[in-house]
Amino acid sequence: MQRSRAYLDHNATTPLRPVAREAMLVALTQEGNASSVHHEGRAARARLESAREALAGFVKTQPKNVYFTSGATEALNLALTPELELDGNKAPFEMLLVAAGEHACVLAGHRFPATAVEKLPLTADGVLDLAALDAALARHAGRRVLLALQAANNETGVIQPVAAAAARVHAAGGALVCDGVQAAGKAPSDFSALDADVLVLSAHKIGGPQGTGALCFAKSRHHILNGLIRGGGQERGLRAGTQNVAAIVGFAAAAEALAQAGVAEMARLAGLRDRLERAVKALAPEAVIFGAGAPRLPNTANFAVPGVGAEVLLMALDLEGVAVSSGSACSSGKVKRSHVLEAMGVPPALAEGAIRVSLGWNSEEDDVERFRIAFVRAVETLKAKRVKPAA
Ligand code: PLP
Repeated sequence: MQRSRAYLDHNATTPLRPVAREAMLVALTQEGNASSVHHEGRAARARLESAREALAGFVKTQPKNVYFTSGATEALNLALTPELELDGNKAPFEMLLVAAGEHACVLAGHRFPATAVEKLPLTADGVLDLAALDAALARHAGRRVLLALQAANNETGVIQPVAAAAARVHAAGGALVCDGVQAAGKAPSDFSALDADVLVLSAHKIGGPQGTGALCFAKSRHHILNGLIRGGGQERGLRAGTQNVAAIVGFAAAAEALAQAGVAEMARLAGLRDRLERAVKALAPEAVIFGAGAPRLPNTANFAVPGVGAEVLLMALDLEGVAVSSGSACSSGKVKRSHVLEAMGVPPALAEGAIRVSLGWNSEEDDVERFRIAFVRAVETLKAKRVKPAA
């Protein structure tokens, strides 16, 4: 079916998958609070627990290790605290290491004192610098260290060496919290692949609804003393508040669809992404594709054409019916310079032209072709405006 627009901003939010919508519509017609003991309540509880089982299967842990939250931002704010107890170890974490390219909710949302937080550099390709991690662990020897490292970056799609970092952190007696939001379903991103201690997911990045996510633990003896939302003791006391069962059911349906799509879908997306990048290079050979030298998610392309500003290009593409993003989406709608590209050492003038195109489950060749045509038209117009004819 010919669509009126090409939505190529899946890393910002992914359109709801039909299976998730169907599951949610059914759940919305079923009354009952999952904490009530009557028939309706028990039925709601059953839907909630079956969703928990599905998510647990998706990340390869036990259902009792999965907690539903309002999204990844909340889950990461909840997890990143000195009071995080893992595998029965009650000793508080004394130091938080964060990779410089983490999402804002990790960089700013932690509950460690500012003096106990250290940023680790990225390489020019956008990968965590493991030598810098080794040096930081040696510097903090004798202190309990927590590392926050995303499985893949939302702006560049660069896949992070989570298992290698986890081995180093574990050898030093520390633990690793992994933001698996962007990698889920697009790169190996369960506990067996990542060896993380904590893994966080967001429903709306995998074709589920906005406003729900999960905090998952690898092992069962865990606790967080200072929860963020206190009240009725839901989610086994870790996250109070009546669960949004319909949204959680949609989340689980999306995760199951993603698991079924498997590697074939990753290969399909990589094919589309490569085609799109070839189109960019064909028109503008001087374009720089960020993170191209590192392993990347198959759905993400982040590039800049020197001399072409992101904001004007984004608006020109939007007028042509193509939705992409510049840098990372932020709530004010304003484009701010990317801290990720800065950490990769990209010169500010080039970074200001960064455009992110991100594909997903409903992206098709037509969308890429539509992007190509719009991109050619936009860049040629913008370049022509720059080259003013002599008076
Ligand atoms: N982590 C990454 C890598 C993201 O891309 C996002 C969303 O943009 C988040 C965390 C926050 O997720 P949520 O929207 O569920 O709070």
